[in-house]
Amino acid sequence: MKNLIEIQQMLAGQWSGINSRDLVNDATGSLLNDPGDWDPPRGITPRIKTIPLAIGIPDGASLPKEELSQLASKVITRPGEAAFVYGFGVGYRALRAQLAQKYTADRGLEVNEEWFQLCNGSSGAIDLVCRTLVQPGDVIITEAPTYMGTLRNFKAVQADIRAVPMDKDGLLIPDLEAAIQQALATGKTIKFIYTISTFQNPTGATLSRKRRIELLKLAAKYKILILDDDAYGDLYFDQRPPESLTSLSGGYGVLTVGTFSKTIATGLRIGWIHGHPSLIGLFGKMRFAMGLNQMMVRIISAYIEDGYLEHHGKLVRSIYREKMETLANALDRHAADFIDYDRPQGGFYLWIRLKNGIKAQDLWRTAAEEGVGFTQGINFFPNRVDPEQHIRIAFPWTQLSQMEEAATRFGRACARVSKGDIA
Ligand code: PMP
Repeated sequence: MKNLIEIQQMLAGQWSGINSRDLVNDATGSLLNDPGDWDPPRGITPRIKTIPLAIGIPDGASLPKEELSQLASKVITRPGEAAFVYGFGVGYRALRAQLAQKYTADRGLEVNEEWFQLCNGSSGAIDLVCRTLVQPGDVIITEAPTYMGTLRNFKAVQADIRAVPMDKDGLLIPDLEAAIQQALATGKTIKFIYTISTFQNPTGATLSRKRRIELLKLAAKYKILILDDDAYGDLYFDQRPPESLTSLSGGYGVLTVGTFSKTIATGLRIGWIHGHPSLIGLFGKMRFAMGLNQMMVRIISAYIEDGYLEHHGKLVRSIYREKMETLANALDRHAADFIDYDRPQGGFYLWIRLKNGIKAQDLWRTAAEEGVGFTQGINFFPNRVDPEQHIRIAFPWTQLSQMEEAATRFGRACARVSKGDIA
């Protein structure tokens, strides 16, 4: 029997010669080669501390720390052990019932807790939908541009991603039908159509009511499921968005994923799948992670129970409207000659088309040098081609007092690039 030192030497010899990339499956292999979306440009030294306009997370000062800390203590000191043990299956019933109440009131489709499966955020929800439904090679149709994080979910199950263009009213329906027909003509199975129908990431666009109905009509004609990612629907500035796809559908053929990440905080990691109970029943069995964080679901449930969520919703809607308007007004003053965009009606993002031949990558690098960060549009296109040259600006996290300075730096970077002074 060899002694431990010899065994360790043998292991070290074997493993030092192994490239860890050789260990991964094909899906992970394809993801390893993806560029990081949040990496700053290489080789650029900011002249001044950077103001980020790239971060799609809630306003720091709005975080309800006091309320959550009181409720956490209440949940932890409750009699019994429920918050301390595994929670399997569909998730904490009381929170699902509260979601059902909220959906019934806000979206006009009468539902109960059986219409909800709790998940680890909406990205966990999308992951669960994908792992339950998608076979390698199945087609998923998505908007272009779309949220890049979800593209990773799709790649992780080796889906065949087909992109359909959109405009300020959402998916272009004739292009969608053409994509459906093209996939079916080659014998493909289309698993679902993925849309971020309301205040989309990255464009801020909302699928119009007319197009919502046309989309449902197409989905019915070809018997294709719709996956609606509704991360931002509650964050409207003035008017509520059009009636949701799930409510317009009467509850059939639409799965909606939602989250507390954008309305409360991304670190909570609580989201859900909402759909007809016959579909929701599919997902419980695919959950192998021993359930969600049982404390957090109870804390959020208490937060809703005590009426905080409704109050908080009003607060953050007004914060984001003011931030969006302040930033947009400043950009119009400092960069109007270089940019073109529509003001969103809600959500977190400005989707900006660059004018006068400015390239997104040149501006991204030069702006980094000037001390302002944002995301290049190319990251949101499944094929990584953005012929019109866009950038995405996220306004929720940046402080109101920094908006004017951020826009000044942005305008300076635009002026530099248009004169050929590129970092
Ligand atoms: N969907 C969309 C459209 C998003 O923008 C995000 C977050 N950027 C997510 C899903 C993931 O959110 P979470 O997992 O935190 O709920």
